Amino acid sequence: MKVVVAGGGVIGLSVAWQAARHGHEVVLADPDPGRGTSWAGAGMLAPVAEAYFGEEAITAFGMAASHRWESWADELRADAGSDPGYTRKGTLVIARDHDELAALVPLHEMQLAQQLRAERVSAREARRIEPALAPAICGGLWLADDHQVDNRLYVRALIDACGRAGVSFVHERAATCAPTHVTLDGGIDMAADAVVVATGTWQPVIEAGGEQIDLYLRPVKGQIIRVRSTNRAVFPTRTVRSGPIYVVPRDHGELAIGATAEERGFDTTVTAGAARELLTKSWELLPGLAEAELVEVMAGLRPGTPDNAPMIGRLPGGPILAMGHFRHGILFSPATAAAVVAMIDGGEVPEVVAPFTPERFAGATTARRQAKART
Ligand SMILES: Cc1cc2nc3c(=O)[nH]c(=O)nc-3n(C[C@H](O)[C@H](O)[C@H](O)COP(=O)(O)OP(=O)(O)OC[C@H]3O[C@@H](n4cnc5c(N)ncnc54)[C@H](O)[C@@H]3O)c2cc1C
Repeated sequence: MKVVVAGGGVIGLSVAWQAARHGHEVVLADPDPGRGTSWAGAGMLAPVAEAYFGEEAITAFGMAASHRWESWADELRADAGSDPGYTRKGTLVIARDHDELAALVPLHEMQLAQQLRAERVSAREARRIEPALAPAICGGLWLADDHQVDNRLYVRALIDACGRAGVSFVHERAATCAPTHVTLDGGIDMAADAVVVATGTWQPVIEAGGEQIDLYLRPVKGQIIRVRSTNRAVFPTRTVRSGPIYVVPRDHGELAIGATAEERGFDTTVTAGAARELLTKSWELLPGLAEAELVEVMAGLRPGTPDNAPMIGRLPGGPILAMGHFRHGILFSPATAAAVVAMIDGGEVPEVVAPFTPERFAGATTARRQAKART
């Protein structure tokens, strides 16, 4: 079958690679593959640390993806001929004071109720696991199943694997995505047996059931800092989180410090205030970071839906959507790719994807389109 994928972030690239592996003829359209939100991310594969009350379906999907990651990384390394930077070192969630420690109690109970592996640790135990932690911390949780991938190495490996698997790249925006064709910005029309829309926060015109659909997607800005080790800096050896702040070390001596969550539309300005906040909070947690070399501050736009869960599937008479992966696109990518390729092949779609049908927003989508038409 001929498959056209619009959008080449971790989601579109994963789908394209897997579809090509399943014997399909795949074209991927993106003016700049891999340089969207996937380039900005931190690369945490953290379904346990990010298990929130009322988001059990998201956690279950995240765990399914997490279980797939080790073999996914092995297959990608073999197909791409390069290392995607997947490391299994667990994650520490740290409380800096007694209030934060008390706030971890219900979180821990909820994690255990969902059969997730999470262990309370004292300040001493936390520092034994991660000696770079500040002496003043109060304790925390040890999450042995939350790992990480270097998202930039991952994106590069996916591009290489796609190329080797025969995926054709078209460096142009998709203007319109219909169920059996994609029209590019320049006017070229590409016919397909299946069309997959994976354009992250951005939306081409999407046609479903003969109508133009306006999806509820909102960009949630995340500012993130990258620093590099120097011979005076003391880096942690695994991911450390505390409240909204996280510190993710890479094997090659870089470290990501994230992230803000700001509802500001399509704004990617980096601000002094956010950089100050991220640096101060991470330094309080890991004082050895003070001597690191500052490399980059950037902002990415997480693709958010009204319920913060992804949209994976078809609207009636529409293309396949693989959008709205919000905080977890890197984690979810193997599971989303498997589900989308099953949809293309007409195979059995895993049960764990069922809650993410785009049809759950069908009423809201129509209302939004009508409201826009009135203005
Ligand atoms: C600061 C920050 C930290 C994060 N940390 C993590 C983390 O630790 N773990 C995790 O799992 N997730 C994390 N995320 C979220 C994750 O990065 C996203 O969920 C993920 O990158 C979404 O991937 P995507 O492929 O859907 O979108 P993108 O990576 O944005 O890709 C979309 C692509 O579509 C292209 N495009 C847009 N419009 C068109 C068009 N009309 N036609 C063709 N192509 C088009 C763009 O050029 C882009 O390449 C983080 C995000 C941010 C901002």
